[in-house]
Amino acid sequence: MSGRTNRTKIVCTIGPSCEKEATLKAMMRAGMDVARLNFSHGTHVGHSRLLRNVRRASDSVHKFVTVIGDLQGPKIRLGELPSEGIVLKNGETQIFSTAIDLYKNLKIPVTYKKLHKDVKIGQRFLIDDGLIEMKITKVVGQDIHAEVTNGGIVTSHKGMNFPDSKLSVSSLTKKDKEDVAFAVQIGVEWIALSFVKSSGDVRSLKQLIKKFVQAGQVAPRVLVKIEKHEAIEAFDEILNEADGVMIARGDLGIEIPAEEVPIRQKELIEKCRVSGKPVIVATQMLDSMIRNPSPTRAEVSDVANAVFDHTDAVMLSGESATGKFPIQAVKTMSKIVQEAEVSRFDDVVFDPPAVKDLIGSVAQAVKLATTQQTIDGIIVSIELANWSESVNRFHAEIPLFIACSNPKLARQTALRWGSEPFVLKNVKEKTFVSRALRVLQDLKKIRKGMRLAVVLGGRHGEAFDVVTV
Ligand code: PEP
Repeated sequence: MSGRTNRTKIVCTIGPSCEKEATLKAMMRAGMDVARLNFSHGTHVGHSRLLRNVRRASDSVHKFVTVIGDLQGPKIRLGELPSEGIVLKNGETQIFSTAIDLYKNLKIPVTYKKLHKDVKIGQRFLIDDGLIEMKITKVVGQDIHAEVTNGGIVTSHKGMNFPDSKLSVSSLTKKDKEDVAFAVQIGVEWIALSFVKSSGDVRSLKQLIKKFVQAGQVAPRVLVKIEKHEAIEAFDEILNEADGVMIARGDLGIEIPAEEVPIRQKELIEKCRVSGKPVIVATQMLDSMIRNPSPTRAEVSDVANAVFDHTDAVMLSGESATGKFPIQAVKTMSKIVQEAEVSRFDDVVFDPPAVKDLIGSVAQAVKLATTQQTIDGIIVSIELANWSESVNRFHAEIPLFIACSNPKLARQTALRWGSEPFVLKNVKEKTFVSRALRVLQDLKKIRKGMRLAVVLGGRHGEAFDVVTV
């Protein structure tokens, strides 16, 4: 299968293990398509340097690499505890207080200062990625009394999850707002909103982005991270507002029963594909490769199954950011993706309810044509109409060449399944086909004799043409 480009994109979280330009170049050559800057760690100076290295590496390997700025969001954490931690024993009662920042009078501090107003007796909460479980027995002033139902040792700043509570905390913190201004200024293509709960959260972020975008600048698009039980309940309205989705299985698997996550993964991906919006499956995909040069068999299956679910992208987190084998992790992921894609199990069998409009009908006709005739690629322009989204949702098993008027738009598009963006300035309907063919030939993406479906849209009517190069 050499020479074949993977259709499912690979997102790599950038951190100390892969921040050098040479490592990033090797990762991009191995199949990395998207760089995720995680604003939960590091400084603005550090992230600017990472972005510079990503841009330099992508320029030198001639690849449009998308950058996501991932906001920390209102992760609720324990405050400062003694360095040896606190032992929580099953059956004991502990007091968690929003009134303090440091462990004092046997009370454990909590960072979200209104928590005592949002929780109720009988509700559970979890600490340290769900390892420790507590049940609330009493709320007195700012003190939350809870019984330990699954004990362990807790240390400073461990994360907390509240699967039974509806928290009023805003999904954009003061730090997030500063990070949004910074992300727009350095020119990331996407901003990821953590702990989204409603469509209102997405609208707030979009308004904030608008405030910082300069005239003529391409605004970053909004990716929502689905990691709260509220987001599962309000998913349809959230998807309506969002530009893309990340299934953040780490937190999601604590907020809802872990055994429900694979089912939600399938449902969310299906909804995203029908809507034409890109979706990323994230977290622990090759987790053991943080420490080992090869993955477990179960991890290999997890990546392959995400491909079979028709995700747009799969993501590496600690594997690339802090692991010992970042390049090997990308190579491994790329091999799994390739093997899964050439099997019949990732083929999108066309689903008529997905077609709701004329654009969808033409996109479906293109997909049908690609399965019934020899067609080597599809060309669309994001400038002429919203064709790339429509065509993209049917996952035709051939390259989708997307003409974009500038590199920024090309990078933004590179997150989508199968997309191979290229730059074509000043697009006009009359000259689009001849110019696009010339540029793609110069880029050696197409050769003489190839047959390509060209979707024009716009005033040329909702139709497509097949041209031979
Ligand atoms: C997750 O919880 O799966 C996730 C991607 O979140 P974080 O930003 O904490 O890595």
